[in-house]
Amino acid sequence: MFFAAHPDDAELNCGGTILSLVNSGRSVGIVDLTLGELSTRGNLKLRKKETDKATALLGIKFRENLKIADGNIEINLINKKKIISVIRKYRPEIVFAPYPLDRHPDHINASNLIRESFFYAGLAKIKTGNLDPYRPSKIYYYRNAVDMPVSFIFDISKTFKKKLEVMQCYDSQFYNAESKEPQTFISSKLFEQEVEARARHFGFKIGVEYGEPFYSDSDLKVESDTLFTL
Ligand SMILES: [Zn+2]
Repeated sequence: MFFAAHPDDAELNCGGTILSLVNSGRSVGIVDLTLGELSTRGNLKLRKKETDKATALLGIKFRENLKIADGNIEINLINKKKIISVIRKYRPEIVFAPYPLDRHPDHINASNLIRESFFYAGLAKIKTGNLDPYRPSKIYYYRNAVDMPVSFIFDISKTFKKKLEVMQCYDSQFYNAESKEPQTFISSKLFEQEVEARARHFGFKIGVEYGEPFYSDSDLKVESDTLFTL
């Protein structure tokens, strides 16, 4: 289960990993916390259309939007229960969340909200209707705009091209030479080039063409077979 503060965050930072997991037969879902209503470019109707197109191309099992206020992701009981409920509903083995240090405050707040809820989802005395308590085994953090310590890098060489196609579904948000809308951090040509450069950078570090980095604050288990594929 990939949590994202805004629709397109999961695709931008984990799109290659999501596509690779889907290709290997895993059940993958995305939970967006907000509708992205504060986005400088585009509007809600257009953003929804773009998200639906990207979701179809990713081939994931489900996508939900928790409709928490964009620009105001508060760590309160209502929002915690929204996250806890969706974790208990789908019972994912692994949860992915934004790394808790970033330039965008929504990513920081989303990260802390998800980390708390990840833990509380396992406590039986916190009630969410008929949903049974459940805590996933792992939470991994993905990088947004700020560098983070890296625990492992996912090889996305086989899915990087398709990741770019998925990102192009978000026509209003990323680089589009025809757009007359104001320029943002993620809509410039430089940012588009950085997406490729970043994937190549992390790929190079593990000896492949393209990669996406992740951070784990718990230690990762290795057995004799996996030792030789690290
Ligand atoms: Zn975002």
